[in-house]
Amino acid sequence: MAHEYGFWITKELNEMSSQEWESLCDGCAKCCIFKFEEDETGHILQTDVVCKLLDLENCCCSKYDQRKVLVHDCITITPDNILDLKWMPESCSYRLLASGKELPSWHPLVTENSKSAQLAGKTVQGRVISELDVDDLEDRIIGWFDPNN
Ligand code: SF4
Ligand code: SF4
Repeated sequence: MAHEYGFWITKELNEMSSQEWESLCDGCAKCCIFKFEEDETGHILQTDVVCKLLDLENCCCSKYDQRKVLVHDCITITPDNILDLKWMPESCSYRLLASGKELPSWHPLVTENSKSAQLAGKTVQGRVISELDVDDLEDRIIGWFDPNN
């Protein structure tokens, strides 16, 4: 492992190396779910559809290095923008740390098991379909976005 165990406790987000920063992602893939924002209210509606690049089996981006070219609205999360992205789930590890909270016990960094988020049922695996299999995203709205889910 190229980082020290516990670096997420001892370092500020903006002190982390890019490798450490990337490793904070728990792999839930909740940020890869399509959502709509209502013009008038700003409320966010959630679908059960994910980006075409998401590997549904492993819950990871199949073209991570090229994602910004292939999916123009894929957002790069940074220490500066994470708390402004209101459609990110409360459980997002970046958001937790930026809010002064701890990583959950099932986080791959804590368990030192890259599959632990999946094993704990914390990812979108089995709950979503790909945009490649959907004709109209609006038909797949499942309700208001609940940041706690
Ligand atoms: S919501 Fe956060 S922790 Fe989950 S996949 Fe997205 S960036 Fe990673
Ligand atoms: S390009 Fe990759 S990281 Fe970005 S939304 Fe799609 S699957 Fe997720």
